[in-house]
Amino acid sequence: MTHELPKLPYALDALEPYISKRTIEFHYGKHHQAYVNNLNKLIADTEFENATLEGIIHKATGGIFNNGAQVWNHTFYWNCLKPQGGGEPAGKLAETIVRNFGSFGEFKEKFSTAAATLFGSGWAWLIKKDDGKLEIVQESNAGNPLKYGATPLLTCDVWEHAYYLDKQNLRPDYIADYWKLIDWNAVAVRL
Ligand code: MN
Repeated sequence: MTHELPKLPYALDALEPYISKRTIEFHYGKHHQAYVNNLNKLIADTEFENATLEGIIHKATGGIFNNGAQVWNHTFYWNCLKPQGGGEPAGKLAETIVRNFGSFGEFKEKFSTAAATLFGSGWAWLIKKDDGKLEIVQESNAGNPLKYGATPLLTCDVWEHAYYLDKQNLRPDYIADYWKLIDWNAVAVRL
């Protein structure tokens, strides 16, 4: 099957002023699209030709894993954000965060630190494990928690292409603005 770039769930400029239209044009239009194109080329005539992205993440290695996981990760990332997002979660999600991290503030601090200190390119994730506990993990490059059976709830892309046009080398500034865009309802549905 041919993988396609999913439609962005909002306009290219909808996350301004926190993430610029120019960043989204490159990040979604060039980088995300390139992962889709590379994946389609790499899976031709392989056992992954008709595999889902989840199947590829579970079983593939090398370039097929890297590009397949990056397609999934980016679609998930776009769906973690929304215009006029931010604030704090409510209901069961809020209670679960407090139970696991002490308070929303402590969770925010820990997640921000994980995103800021990840060396090189990768992703910070909030995941739900088999036993129902929440955990914050760092994954390098295309790493995805589905690989080890966890449920991804929230992710922050900390590849430089996610913020360099807007913030240059200031990853912590990007992370601070990321909190103003999170779609907590989308996160809650995944719990
Ligand atoms: Mn990215």
